[in-house]
Amino acid sequence: MRIVFFGSPGSGKGTQAARIAEQYDLTHISTGELFRSKVLDDTRIGRRIGHVIAAGQLVDDITTNYVLFKALDGMKRFLVDGYPRNVAQARSFDVHLKNLNLELTCALFLDVPEEEAVRRLSLRRNIRQEKKENHQRADDAPEVIHRRFQVYRRATEPLVEYYGDRMVAVDGTGDADQVTARILEVLKPWE
Ligand code: ADP
Repeated sequence: MRIVFFGSPGSGKGTQAARIAEQYDLTHISTGELFRSKVLDDTRIGRRIGHVIAAGQLVDDITTNYVLFKALDGMKRFLVDGYPRNVAQARSFDVHLKNLNLELTCALFLDVPEEEAVRRLSLRRNIRQEKKENHQRADDAPEVIHRRFQVYRRATEPLVEYYGDRMVAVDGTGDADQVTARILEVLKPWE
């Protein structure tokens, strides 16, 4: 199986992606996590990426493709979470896979209404603040959340149309176990 997983901020895609990858024994790669680990490196590129993420913007496509393709090198069964984030990335990924003689199994879209997703993100921030966790995400600040949704609507949502028949949409509302069960159900044909 080769899956890309997309959805809005707060859709729960990180949690679900980890569960699905484990279930099917797929390599799980999250571009958000790859970038956050680059930021910790404290190099020039790490700092640049850190500024982009903190502003709620997208890292440029050349950097993103480079980092992802390198992480995927040699992998045949994978679940990529948070990529593609726009149609240009989706096109590049199609070309990349074609060159490797590989095909995407499907693009999984986790569908959650914006009000619900915003509610989840502010809940997560409050819980982290209460626990005084120091690994708060700078991009969970309310003004940045707003920008992330703008970016999502403009850049990422058009993937629904781009993938067309290759996309499977799953209702991402309800509790996490319910959502996992729905995803496993739609993936059955490819087991
Ligand atoms: P979320 O989906 O909750 O916003 P992610 O962990 O997927 O969180 O991504 C965090 C940030 O990392 C994004 O807001 C963006 O700045 C950057 N990022 C992640 N994936 C990509 C990508 N495919 N292209 C460009 N930027 C990305």
